[in-house]
Amino acid sequence: MRVLLVEDDESLGEGIRTALRRAAYAVDWLRDGASALAAIRDGGIDLVVLDLGLPRMDGIEVIRAARRAGATVPILVLSARERPADRTLGLDVGADDYLGKPFDLHELLARVRALLRRSAGNAAPVLSCGALELDPAALSVSWQGRNIDLPRREFALLRVLMESPGRTISRESAQQRLFGWDEDVASNALDVHVHHLRRKLPAALIRTVRGVGYALDETVAQAPPEAVP
Ligand code: CA
Repeated sequence: MRVLLVEDDESLGEGIRTALRRAAYAVDWLRDGASALAAIRDGGIDLVVLDLGLPRMDGIEVIRAARRAGATVPILVLSARERPADRTLGLDVGADDYLGKPFDLHELLARVRALLRRSAGNAAPVLSCGALELDPAALSVSWQGRNIDLPRREFALLRVLMESPGRTISRESAQQRLFGWDEDVASNALDVHVHHLRRKLPAALIRTVRGVGYALDETVAQAPPEAVP
């Protein structure tokens, strides 16, 4: 999942970016409102974490303009403007959630998870497909009740696939959701992650859709244990 972080305070931004990356999100970090609006209009972002007091364009204006332009991406506001009237304004111009500064990083991550699962059309906190389970909060994965240790990127890739079992995720979309702008990524990085996942889980669980991308195979995930190689 790709998160756009918009924060002009360097040390706070650094802390949030680190926390988001540890939670296996790809993070793009911008420090002013006008660039943020341009990035939101370009699309390809799963969630925006937005400060309000920003250079070049106030956060409230960013939200207003983004919604006017038809952007549906979830927006979580982080702000020191904490009066009820500020929160009301933030939500009413189109933010989806509002967290006052200072805040707890664990709470921020929990709100990020909640917004992401809602925007994916899910309500349950744990993603499951047959014998496969993924817990975004615990960053854990299990297959047939057995824990599978996955590095951050493989976890992120599986999370993307498990959001909509059976649906093909294009290579472009998967890449966009796994890697931030500033990351140096080899052209075959996605295939390498798929390859590693297939070695740790039943290989047939991740189906290659030729010329398009990858999909999680529901039939394999739901097969009785003895039928899965
Ligand atoms: Ca600020």
